[in-house]
Amino acid sequence: MEYVETMRTFLETQWSKILDWFGNDEKLIFILGTSMVLFLSFCAVNSFFMFLDSTGKPAFLHKYKIQKDKNVPVETHRFVHCCRVAFRNELLSCAVVYLSFPLMKATGMSCSASLPPLWRALVDFVIFILVDEFIFYYSHRLFHLPALYKHIHKIHHEWIAPISIAASYAHPVEHIVSNALPLLAGPILAGSHLSVVWVWLVIAQFETCLHHCDYHFPVMSSPQFHDYHHVKFNECFGTNGLLDWFHQTDVGFKKSIQCKRHITYYGLKPITEMFPSKNAREN
Ligand SMILES: [Zn+2]
Ligand SMILES: [Zn+2]
Repeated sequence: MEYVETMRTFLETQWSKILDWFGNDEKLIFILGTSMVLFLSFCAVNSFFMFLDSTGKPAFLHKYKIQKDKNVPVETHRFVHCCRVAFRNELLSCAVVYLSFPLMKATGMSCSASLPPLWRALVDFVIFILVDEFIFYYSHRLFHLPALYKHIHKIHHEWIAPISIAASYAHPVEHIVSNALPLLAGPILAGSHLSVVWVWLVIAQFETCLHHCDYHFPVMSSPQFHDYHHVKFNECFGTNGLLDWFHQTDVGFKKSIQCKRHITYYGLKPITEMFPSKNAREN
């Protein structure tokens, strides 16, 4: 218990420094602080993958590629175009944060110097994950309706073998509805403390990019589920599999070699060697 209290005091001290840094201006912390967290976490995770994807180096990491030899390295003009669209969309996310501020305040979101108890942060995280899955799954399925697909979602699916920064390569409408809103709606509904929201946004940005990176590294969470969606188009619409299980939109995936590989593993041997394909179609 003493350790928990020490940790809490440490975290509250750091949070107070952040509040001071923003001059204790609540609006500035909510809008500028949250936008910075979103944008910087996106840049942080992608800087590594941007180097890997654009140069194909270091080569020893290729053995962890899911779709072997695809985009190693990515064609330069394609890569540059993807980066432009992705960074434009990240700026759009900041605009969504700005417009959400009145809602954040209305539902009781706070940035007080006193941090919430651990149990409250954990409950908030469960709400964030469920709301994210709900909005992402149903909006994603809507964007797969032919009328919407050809005008909106087709852009994101130009990447059959995705790269991490293609997580935000999408039509602006799709980016707002399926990327920005699912992340922010949970915190707004729960009326969470801003410190918890920032931790959530960093983890969510990291996971979204990881789900698109097409590399299945040891220790990291598995990107096989969303990678399968980019290959097959008609399955695995959600983020964590909950609503795909409920709607039976993961039947083919469950029979696939990718499902066997859909685990976090801890050795250096690539998952494709641990569960090798029996024929070329499986891959
Ligand atoms: Zn995707
Ligand atoms: Zn899709």
